[in-house]
Amino acid sequence: MADTLPPIRDALAQHGIRADKRLGQHFLFDLNLTGRIARAAGDAGAPLSDGATIEIGPGPGGLTRALLAENATVFAVERDERVRPVLDDIAAAYPGKLNVLWGDALKIDCAALGAPPRRIVANLPYNVGTELLIGWLANAKAFESLTLMFQAEVAERLVATPSTKAYGRLSILTQWLCDARILFTVTPKAFVPPPQVDSAVVQLVPRTQPLAPASIETLTRVTAAAFGQRRKMLRQSLKALAAAAGMDGNGLCAAAGITPTDRAEDLTVEDFCRLANVLDKTART
Ligand code: SAM
Repeated sequence: MADTLPPIRDALAQHGIRADKRLGQHFLFDLNLTGRIARAAGDAGAPLSDGATIEIGPGPGGLTRALLAENATVFAVERDERVRPVLDDIAAAYPGKLNVLWGDALKIDCAALGAPPRRIVANLPYNVGTELLIGWLANAKAFESLTLMFQAEVAERLVATPSTKAYGRLSILTQWLCDARILFTVTPKAFVPPPQVDSAVVQLVPRTQPLAPASIETLTRVTAAAFGQRRKMLRQSLKALAAAAGMDGNGLCAAAGITPTDRAEDLTVEDFCRLANVLDKTART
């Protein structure tokens, strides 16, 4: 059901609000696009009318309105208090359905907002998008799904497969914990003001169990070491980590069933988990 609120463009003009690039503000005015994102979030699990829909950075509320029109109960986290009157008007049009938390999303525990099933939906501020995602992944099971707009280059890293340029630490952490796919790409002209890069909507559905057992801390250390020197062979890039565990690079790789002359991008998520487990086992003995 469409609301009777003014077009977003008019609401911004009425309150004299211009996008602030320091806050990563690139707004969506296109109702077809915001509706598509909202419906995609609803298709990932329970209907949006169930549980809590957490939106990061509602700004003037284009996506928020699409979520509310799908009968979501929205918990929105926004830093920019200038949009308060615009969001107040939206909240008044949907009584009891929009709760706005004012502050930095990096400091807010989204897993504690509302009632499950919880889903995150956002056209993310790109300057903190990856940092926000890594925080949510550490508690991935708290969310039924995450439907997120990123710059296309980050979206590609999230879904990248081994032996590709985009494959790296973020691909491994994401795919270890979630089923990840790009739903669709979005051109710069869909935003006001347009960003300099293409964007893409990604959907992450946390797995009931990670792809393979491993500790997140050790897996993070191994992938950081391996991709920190991604052109080097693993026996070299993992040398320092292996030494700390009383081995050399060849020994660590052999114990994990990895070819020591491979490079980071040759390994699967499961390979990295085996490396992490060898290091943890060695640390315990
Ligand atoms: N959702 C709106 C839309 O689609 O039109 C705005 C999206 S805009 C790309 C990003 C939004 O995130 C802005 O409203 C910005 O003020 C907000 N923002 C930026 N950094 C933030 C932070 N650390 N915590 C919460 N909100 C933030």
